Amino acid sequence: MLVHPEGPSQGVRGGGPMDVAVWLAGRGYPVHPLAPGGKTPAANCRDCRESEHAPEACPCRAERRWCHGFHAATTDLRTVREWWQTEPDFGIGVACGAAGLVVIDVDAHSAPLPDRQRLLPGIAIDDRVDLTGLRSGFDTLALLAAHRSRPNPCEDASTLRVRTPSGGMHIWYRAPKDGPRFRCSSGSSSRVALAWQVDVRAIGGYIVAPSTRTSAGVYEALPGARVPAALPLWLAAELVRTGHDGQPVAPAPARAKRAPRGRGRQGQGSGQGDRVLASLLEEVRACGLSPSGTAFSEKLNRAAFTAGGLVAAGHLVEEEGRRLLLEAADGARPHQTRRNVLIVDAGLRAGRERPIQPKERA
Ligand SMILES: [Zn+2]
Ligand SMILES: [Zn+2]
Repeated sequence: MLVHPEGPSQGVRGGGPMDVAVWLAGRGYPVHPLAPGGKTPAANCRDCRESEHAPEACPCRAERRWCHGFHAATTDLRTVREWWQTEPDFGIGVACGAAGLVVIDVDAHSAPLPDRQRLLPGIAIDDRVDLTGLRSGFDTLALLAAHRSRPNPCEDASTLRVRTPSGGMHIWYRAPKDGPRFRCSSGSSSRVALAWQVDVRAIGGYIVAPSTRTSAGVYEALPGARVPAALPLWLAAELVRTGHDGQPVAPAPARAKRAPRGRGRQGQGSGQGDRVLASLLEEVRACGLSPSGTAFSEKLNRAAFTAGGLVAAGHLVEEEGRRLLLEAADGARPHQTRRNVLIVDAGLRAGRERPIQPKERA
């Protein structure tokens, strides 16, 4: 979109960030402010910085504040104008899930090549395939497309493509309307990933809108379509194959079985639930002994996922579980409280779909 004077299938006219934000919101893309010069959301208000709470439970939204990043994204033009009047240099984030977008985020970072089996998760790359020259997400995405005999999305001029200041590319697509609900992933994840150095931005994430200027440069729409095209079917199939279709990201705890909701003493906590959670929290806390390389996110995700299952089966009080999880997480990784909240809430949400009876655990 962007930088075209008129026509619904064209883009917004050039202009300041507010014009672009209003243009996007007016077309149904919920927007939220990014910190001036940066690509991360504008800072929360002081209350939200000082207290841990779920974005859904935050009073700021009703007061039309921009706290909690993409959770605050809106199409309400009055709110959008107010935000960019407050700070005309805000960048623009678009909440992918609410906007119905799936954006393929191709990175070009210099990083050592991983094991060849991690280049395209789930696809074995024969030893005879020469990987010389493979350096970035551009290469792995091209490899995936070639493997499926499909056109390379990076060259797909039928949809909006945006060059990022770091030399990467965002390929914007419309999510299937009645199809799977795709979630975000990172290309470096060992669990859900499309390809090495290729992230997926969908439900649970946001994307920097074209024309946004950061200290590193401008997000610039490339020649070709200025609006997102429908996600190609083969890419949708790849996203399903690689686990992006909204299934719980955490592995189900060992031997947990589905149990009907409401069994146990709903909302009371059973003591057993607390004990199960306690051992998982110990693992999370232990990550605090080392700043990295401890699989912290996975451990926290697993603990939150289990806690969600215990809540659903009535063995744990949700507020209490959440508080314990955040306490343990912030103790081990105090510099990333926002990320901790995201991991905990996603894990709880996914876990609630799978009630757990403590004695069924190994
Ligand atoms: Zn706030
Ligand atoms: Zn808040």
